[in-house]
Formats: sequence, C-alpha cells, structure tokens
Amino acid sequence: MARRIVVCGGGSAGGVLAARLSEDPANTVTLVEAGPDYRTPEETAPELLDANQFGFTTHDWGYESADHVADADSIPMFGIVEQGILPVLRGKVIGGSSSVNGANALRPTPEDFARWTGLGNDRWSWDHVLPYLKKLEDDPVGGELHGTGGPVHIERFTEGNGLRPVMSAFLEACAQAGHPVHEDINGVRKRGAGPIPFNRKNGIRQSSAIAYLGPARHRENLTVLGEQTVDRVEFTEDGTARAVILADGTVLEADLVVLSAGAIGSPAILMRSGIGPRRLLDRLSIPTVQCLEGVGCNLRDHPMVYLTYAVDEEAVGELMPPLQTALAFSSAGAAGQGEVDLHALPFTMEPGVMLVPLAVVRPYSLGSVEITSRAPEADPRIRLGLFDHPDDLRRMVAGIRQIREIMGSGPLEKYVRAETWPGPEATTDADLARAVLQGKNTYCHAVGTCAMGGEGTPAAVVDQAGKVHGVDALYVVDASTMPDIPAVPTNTTVMMMAERWADQLG
Ligand SMILES: Cc1cc2nc3c(=O)[nH]c(=O)nc-3n(C[C@H](O)[C@H](O)[C@H](O)COP(=O)(O)OP(=O)(O)OC[C@H]3O[C@@H](n4cnc5c(N)ncnc54)[C@H](O)[C@@H]3O)c2cc1C
Repeated sequence: MARRIVVCGGGSAGGVLAARLSEDPANTVTLVEAGPDYRTPEETAPELLDANQFGFTTHDWGYESADHVADADSIPMFGIVEQGILPVLRGKVIGGSSSVNGANALRPTPEDFARWTGLGNDRWSWDHVLPYLKKLEDDPVGGELHGTGGPVHIERFTEGNGLRPVMSAFLEACAQAGHPVHEDINGVRKRGAGPIPFNRKNGIRQSSAIAYLGPARHRENLTVLGEQTVDRVEFTEDGTARAVILADGTVLEADLVVLSAGAIGSPAILMRSGIGPRRLLDRLSIPTVQCLEGVGCNLRDHPMVYLTYAVDEEAVGELMPPLQTALAFSSAGAAGQGEVDLHALPFTMEPGVMLVPLAVVRPYSLGSVEITSRAPEADPRIRLGLFDHPDDLRRMVAGIRQIREIMGSGPLEKYVRAETWPGPEATTDADLARAVLQGKNTYCHAVGTCAMGGEGTPAAVVDQAGKVHGVDALYVVDASTMPDIPAVPTNTTVMMMAERWADQLG
C-alpha cells in the first residue's frame, strides 16, 4: 500500500528511520530537519565529520537549563560555558546530535532493559533488542554479541593500535584500584575499564547522516527538507494525524507522521499540536486534541562534573584523539557488588590539562520541558533537575573520592601534577558536595520526555510500538520515548530503537 510518511527531525533516530522506511518503494518519505542539510561529506563542515572534535560549537540549538547554577567558578567546558549558564546542547543539523557528539558508542546492557520491562514494557527485553543492536553495527570484534556489516562502523584504540601511553596508564591505574579491565566493554559485562568503542571510521564520525542517509540519498522516494522547522501536527476530527504544518505555513499531507525531533523537540511539537498537560494547553490557549500529562515530564539526564588536573605536557605528548578509555564503576566501591552507577572518561583537549568527566549514570533526579509560547521558534523552558535528588549528589561525592585515588596512583604519577578542580582544599563530603553543585554539568543525554508505557500509566505518552496514546497515525521515535535512562551514553540506544521501530512501521 502506498503511504506518505513525514518524519519530523533528521537526527540519530530520524536519519535511521527515513533511510530504513525508504527502502520500501511503496513508501514516500519526507524528512524535515530544522538545521542545514549537508548532502555529501564534501559539503559538510569539518567539525561535524572529524570525530575528534565536537560539532556543537557551530550547530547547536542554543538551549539553556533553568536549573540554578552558581554565579562563580562554573567549570569551563571547551570554552563555551559562560559563568552561571548550564547549556543543554542539541545538534541542529542533519544527523542531529549524532553529527555533533562524542561518537562514544557504548551499548546499553541487559540491566537497562530489565528496568524498561519492569516499568511494563515487556516487548523491550534484552532478547528483543539485541538483534537490533547487532543490526546497526559493524564491529570487528564480531562473535555472538556483535554485528558485522551494519551501517555504523565501530573502532577502538588498543595497545599497539593508537592507544596513547597516558590512556594506557589510566587503564593500569584502574586495574590497580581493583577494577577489571576488558578489551570489549560493549559485551554484556557492565563493570570495569577499557578502550571506548567509537562510531568512527578513518577518523570520520559515523552519524546517522553519514552512515544511514548518505547511502539512501539516491532514492526517488526520499526527500530531505533542510532548514525547515516543524510547527505542529494537524488531525482529522476523529483524531488521526493528517498533516504536518511547517513554521512557514507549508502543509505536508501524510498517512503517517513520525516525530523524531529529540527529547526537547518532540514534546514541544506535541504540545503545539494540542497533545500535552491540560493546564499548559489551557494556559497557552492551544485547543486540546489529547490530554497527556506525561508530555515533557520524566526528563532524565546523566549529571556530570569535570574533574580537572594539571598534567605534565611533555609526558602526555599527543592530545589527540582526546578520548580513548572509560571506567564504569560503582559508588559502593571497586570491591563490592553495588550496581554500576558512575562513569569516568579521561579527556585531553588543551596542553597541560586533563579533564576527567565523571557522571552519575543511574540518576534519580528528574527534569522537565515545556513550551512557553505557541510560536515554533520560541525556546522551551528546560529544567534538567541535575542533582535535585540527594542520592545523586552522595554518589557523585563517593565517585570523586575513587577517581582521586586512581589519578593519584603510581601508573599516572609521571603525568598528573595536581588536581585543579575541585582542588586539594576540598576535603570533606560537604566541601565536595558544594563544589559539585557549583560545577554541575551534563553528559548531554536527555531522554524520557515522551515516555513509553501502557495507556493510563502517569508518565506514558507512547505505547510499546511508539504510537502516541489516544490518537492515530502519529508516532514518536527518538530518545524522548525511553522510559528510563540507560547507564551509558544514549546514541546507540536511540539508533537501535529507530532500527526496531522502522521494522515495525515499515
Ligand atoms: C554534545 C553532545 C555529546 C554527546 N555525546 C554522545 C556520545 O559520545 N555518545 C552517545 O552515545 N551519545 C552522545 N550524546 C547523546 C546522543 O547524541 C543523543 O542521545 C542522540 O543523538 C539523540 O537522538 P535523537 O534522535 O533523539 O535526537 P537528535 O539526534 O538530537 O535529533 C533531533 C533532530 O530533530 C531536529 N529538530 C528538533 N526540533 C525540530 C523541529 N521543530 N522541526 C524540525 N526539526 C527539528 C533537530 O535539529 C535534530 O536534528 C551526545 C549529545 C550531545 C548533544
């Protein structure tokens, strides 16, 4: 049956979805992206291609969180964070955040999906998702757990294969502190240190634009509209989505509408379309199509701080690639059986400085997003809620103590000169907690604002197939649908979800 499908947002999920759905010539797929569409690598800005850089310096939505941030001493993050501002980075370009991100391709684990099924999403168990994690990747590690030949090529820096001595020393220091070291931290093992798997090939970030859309561009049934902002979805009287309205008034008629505008963009489009919390819709005089209190709630992100060290420039040598290794560990300590709730990733970008981003990856804090106006170009109000829950703060403090031990240990002695943030004067738990609240930042993994769950579940916005509750022909496929945040960076999980839903929607 011929179908007109409009995918709103060309990011990690939208790129995968548009490429997969257009494999069927019976589908006519239009992908609408607010940022620029670069059709070839030659047209693409270098910072979007180079996996050692971050593309958000040039292609970002410019959002800020309304969380309180201390006025003084906020931690500089690559020179873009102004004092007292907590940016909510989101890629505004074809490929979305997958075009601007760290290309860290850590996969979610069986524990992550046990949480999803525990929340009533029984069709999202590890056994359901593993085939799609394998389908998307081309990981030379191979074996039963990994796919080879998928669109997203995976690379690791290992001993003898580009691993820098300082990163090797970090792994040794982790081992000395009692953490297991694995060559493949994308197995089912969740605890320990090892080389990070990256979605990169010959130094090029494998975004959804490069890995999925690039090879699909020649298809006559796929149209990509760049620099076009989606305003809202229009419905028939019986609540079936029938068209997408762009900010310039263009009407795109559709048999199926998929929102893939991400954890900030998708709830905003739903709210402008009349689907959201009743009080908000009433306040902005938006006619209600479907009252769903969960839209924009349940925002989950990984709170992070940037531990900072002065290092011996000469001993560290080459700064690139800036990121090569990671440690996944428990706030309960290396020896115990506590769950993995922390990540640390040593990072070099400037001579003489090493950052160790440290994140709580099983956060309890919750945030929210809501529109402030019916105008599609108006910024929504975003509250990440980082460290609102006292246990997130407690675990971060415990994590800092463990990383201090690692950074001060023998294998790193010739590299590390001094801790410059929070600094040696921060010794008590209260000192560290204060420093964390002043220097709080995010791992940039917002999810959950159109959460999957059974109809009537308080936060639920979509069902297990991605269909928005209470209306027809409208789906959400992106990070916003995650019912809980996985304890890993989120890009691979989003791409897996898009692969799986493409199979079902196709
Ligand atoms: C700086 C940064 C670093 C990160 N690093 C990593 C990492 O190393 N590894 C990892 O796994 N994850 C990382 N992440 C997170 C990961 O990239 C995201 O979770 C993932 O890309 C989200 O995918 P998505 O499809 O939900 O949204 P996005 O990829 O953000 O896509 C949403 C798209 O919709 C478009 N859009 C929004 N609103 C509209 C509208 N109204 N009309 C039209 N288009 C619209 C946006 O421009 C964007 O292209 C990082 C994220 C950031 C921002």
